[in-house]
Amino acid sequence: MFLDINQMQLGKVRFHEAFPPGAIDFYDPQLRQTSPIESEGVAELLEAILEIRVRGHFSTSMEVACDRCLELTSFPLEADFDLLYRPAATMPRADEIEVRDAETEIGFYQGNGLELSDVLREQVLLALPMQRVCREDCKGICPVCGQHRNLAECACHLEVGDDRWAGLKDL
Ligand SMILES: [Zn+2]
Ligand SMILES: [Zn+2]
Repeated sequence: MFLDINQMQLGKVRFHEAFPPGAIDFYDPQLRQTSPIESEGVAELLEAILEIRVRGHFSTSMEVACDRCLELTSFPLEADFDLLYRPAATMPRADEIEVRDAETEIGFYQGNGLELSDVLREQVLLALPMQRVCREDCKGICPVCGQHRNLAECACHLEVGDDRWAGLKDL
């Protein structure tokens, strides 16, 4: 669905859209969408500065390999969003972005508006945790012998049960 500023000039544009797996390309072969992205919300135009405000909610679930043990792990995601987009012509130059720290949250749109799918792609990726692990205490794969240590311990590591090194292993 295209969120069109011409339509917003006539009033708020409401959306209630579902995107089945495959409808949005996440440009990441590791990442698999396993349920539709359900979205609803409203887009409006702040006319004086041609700024688009998109507010709404989405839910979906994504599947990705655990960072430590590589088992496929499902992440149910759900979040509210409240976003501002300015015309691309007003985009600050690269050297201006650093000084305008508070504005880095603002997005930009080209032409007459923006695709809802682009908005959702970004929100889904943001909602994924930085550390994608199957469980907090996932022991991962032994770097020495390749044993999947959630299933069975192997003999080649001495640090088992020694929490002092737990943090270092993730570095
Ligand atoms: Zn794991
Ligand atoms: Zn081992």
